[in-house]
Amino acid sequence: MLDLVRSIRPTSAEIGAWNTELATATPEEVLTWGAAQWNHHMALTCSFGGPAGMVLLDMIVKVAPATPALYIDTGVLFPETYALIEQVEQHYGIQLAVSNPHRTIAEQEAVEGPALWTRDPNRCCAVRKVQPLAETLLPFDAWITGLRRDNGSTRAQAQLVEWSTKYQLVKLNPLVAWTERDVWRYIHAHKVLYNPLLDQGYTSIGCAPCTRLPTSDDPRSGRWVGFGKTECGLHLEPEASGVALAG
Ligand code: SF4
Repeated sequence: MLDLVRSIRPTSAEIGAWNTELATATPEEVLTWGAAQWNHHMALTCSFGGPAGMVLLDMIVKVAPATPALYIDTGVLFPETYALIEQVEQHYGIQLAVSNPHRTIAEQEAVEGPALWTRDPNRCCAVRKVQPLAETLLPFDAWITGLRRDNGSTRAQAQLVEWSTKYQLVKLNPLVAWTERDVWRYIHAHKVLYNPLLDQGYTSIGCAPCTRLPTSDDPRSGRWVGFGKTECGLHLEPEASGVALAG
């Protein structure tokens, strides 16, 4: 297992006070507050699939541009996603940090056989997403995510500020109370770049082999179709995920 133990951990009372203090703050105000609190020890992750991450990236460039922005390259993202990453770097004049799994797809296939995602998607997500993210977040004390309560039942209890036991840092979810409509209103108002697959009917976009058009009203119903899996594990805490970080 990775050693994720850190020395600085806010108390539950501190986190509760922050949630109260920021209850009526705009996402930009939350990000500005976070930058003052953690400075360059706070990082933003973006999947370049969903629109919420694009909104946060646009906001962070404007209100706290020194904040590191990073993404996980599983090696099997959609071509449209890779193209968007390049466009974003050019558009904002920024260099995104990339987090890679320990093994390339070819190396993984040599050791574990072809298309691990068709046989054990939990393990595939653990080694291609969760472990790289955990390692990338090690230097940071706070992590900005695009989590929203309306993403689905697994995220309905998300708070603006949370402690992550899995990553041993503070999670800052500035858009937690926003709706899909709020997100798109911001995107159109600020002409924010977004993944063109969203215009083709995709409502949740991850790795290409595990993403289909939605099969129901649940926006995440097109992910891991046939597996009864709705989360990659990035946002599941240990007691709920059953996914080990090491692997
Ligand atoms: S989404 Fe699919 S391909 Fe991507 S890491 Fe998870 S199981 Fe593997």
